[in-house]
Amino acid sequence: MADKKNYYEVLGVDKKASQDEIKSAYRKLAKKYHPDFNPGDKDAAEKFKEINEANSVLSDEEKRKQYDYELEHPDMGGMGGFSGFGGGGGMGGFEDIFSSMFGGFGGFGGSAKSSGRTRGADIEQTVRLSFLDAIKGCSKEINYFRNEPCKSCSGTGAKNGTAFSKCTKCGGSGRVKFQQDTIFGRTIQVGACPECNGTGKKITEKCPDCKGVGYTRKQTVFTVQIPAGVDNDSSMRKRGYGQASPNGGESGDLYVYFRIEPHKLLKRQDKDLFVTVPISFATAVSGGKIKVPGIDDVIELTIPAGTASGTRFQIRGKGVKTVNGTGSLYVTVEIDVPQKLSRDQAKKLAEYEDTISLKSCPRMSQYSNDVSSIYGAKIDKQ
Ligand SMILES: [Zn+2]
Ligand SMILES: [Zn+2]
Repeated sequence: MADKKNYYEVLGVDKKASQDEIKSAYRKLAKKYHPDFNPGDKDAAEKFKEINEANSVLSDEEKRKQYDYELEHPDMGGMGGFSGFGGGGGMGGFEDIFSSMFGGFGGFGGSAKSSGRTRGADIEQTVRLSFLDAIKGCSKEINYFRNEPCKSCSGTGAKNGTAFSKCTKCGGSGRVKFQQDTIFGRTIQVGACPECNGTGKKITEKCPDCKGVGYTRKQTVFTVQIPAGVDNDSSMRKRGYGQASPNGGESGDLYVYFRIEPHKLLKRQDKDLFVTVPISFATAVSGGKIKVPGIDDVIELTIPAGTASGTRFQIRGKGVKTVNGTGSLYVTVEIDVPQKLSRDQAKKLAEYEDTISLKSCPRMSQYSNDVSSIYGAKIDKQ
């Protein structure tokens, strides 16, 4: 720690700087000293390295806390203090900083872990489901390509999984100090041994089936049972069905996401279903039975006489069945006003209208009262 520059000074920010301030300062400086813009400039490269190191610590609240503590307690210093970062032992902390540098810029996937074997990457697959399949549950075939661990060598790449010797470059520890040229400039770090990929072992005879890489590209097909009630934000994980590890470690996982197609009539909100159904004027006035769309079939719903347009009915137990119970189907009825009347129909309607008094229309008579009390204007049936 002693010969290290103060990270806050390196980034030119206050000790109380917010994450946004740190980010912004880092961006500015990283641009200025980027080796691409300063070819052959050793000082700029050195500065660039410092900036990245400072940012990797200060942009991570946990690491920053630890760093602040060390700043205030310099006698605790030494490299040992860094081991606390990320909870890793030994030099693990450094490795974390190293990978966070890359993480910040995305695109440097698969950084080697000094702890040895790298877990394979996860794979995401999106499955399209019809609206009703998602509600009722179904089985779907999942079909994708992945790197599958080689069975002949158990993913090690060595013949029969046993043809190894100790790596001479790292002496079997899997970790080395190394110098690396990155787009950020030259860095000296402790990381996975490039000779053995951090495994500490060297293959003496390659597995003939996978040519020593430990995995083979294969089409993976299986059927997954999708439970009833999944939604667009649901996902399923299948452990070990992701990419094989590049060095004999654990495989990644497969994540299945759902894209649920809309339904022509029904809308869904969690476990409830909603539908708007047109009814005739006569049904609204006199009442009657109407058919509404359900999950499996149409359902009969009784509309009471005198139902206003826009009334919503709740049919319990006819929504989506989920682990948290079954929802309702909400039916909103709307009067479908005829767009064309024959002369005869118009005449009959006018005759009917003449027989209706304001008293038999509760909303209109309430409205009439309200208007006359506020405005003094008299309103009749309209
Ligand atoms: Zn090695
Ligand atoms: Zn193999």
